[in-house]
Amino acid sequence: MLNIYQFEGEEKGEHVLILGAIHGDEVCGPLAITKVIERFVSKELVLQRGKVTFVPVCNPSAYTQNIRYVDRNLNRFMIPIDTPKVYEDCLTNVICPLLESADVLLDIHSYHVGGAPFIFIEQPNGKEVPYAQCLGVNHMVYGFQNAYVNADGAVSEDALKEGMGTTEYLRQFGGYGVTLECGQHKDPESIVVAERAIENTFQYFNMLDGCALKKHTSQIIEIQKVYYNEENAEFLEEWCNFQSVPKGTEIARYSGGEVVSVQEDSYIILPRKDTPVGEEWFYIGRSAA
Ligand SMILES: [Zn+2]
Repeated sequence: MLNIYQFEGEEKGEHVLILGAIHGDEVCGPLAITKVIERFVSKELVLQRGKVTFVPVCNPSAYTQNIRYVDRNLNRFMIPIDTPKVYEDCLTNVICPLLESADVLLDIHSYHVGGAPFIFIEQPNGKEVPYAQCLGVNHMVYGFQNAYVNADGAVSEDALKEGMGTTEYLRQFGGYGVTLECGQHKDPESIVVAERAIENTFQYFNMLDGCALKKHTSQIIEIQKVYYNEENAEFLEEWCNFQSVPKGTEIARYSGGEVVSVQEDSYIILPRKDTPVGEEWFYIGRSAA
């Protein structure tokens, strides 16, 4: 069902797992991964140490249809499922064992609203932070699981399972990883960002012979809360991704008149005007530094 490619160096090293198209309409991962696989096949790149597993397209049916998912978001409830009920349940059963066996994960995504690339990390002082600093991206965000727990009306146990994506699942088995959002879905630059991150990953873990990696500094933002879209809810301004908003700024209004405003200086993360009702509309975060 899934095409999986593996390359192994002659010397011991990390096992890196690189995933693309967990969401079917995010093409930069598959395109960049395919380019890198071709470079291994042509011997332009030679893996000296460790092992890399590539899954260019994690959701093949959604990818073929250029949609985010078929039945449900594959990057939620990323847990093995005894009795698969829907298409994505079958996929998690193939992807989870790969996550269990990897030391490091680079999960490549793109997003709907325009804006710069950024990285989801687990925590501001986690093992993944120095690695993430080397991927060449300016913003890192964390607190994704808490954002779901903090959401209004969410039941915490279900919320935690819902917040279980690829990186959270891998972490339970001792590995660590990041989710890289390479930019807008159709931005050709997103493919460049993805390919550079893959190559930097190999250099960071000393898997290739050759040039040393330049260190990069990224700003770290803690996500506080996720907001879901409702019927007739509206943004009170046109927000950009990572836009900073001072304390007291009114962000959005729900149909009952309730206004969402920020209680401290904050950032708006991934505001999406045309979010379907009931889905993630935007996140609020604050600087961790
Ligand atoms: Zn995605």
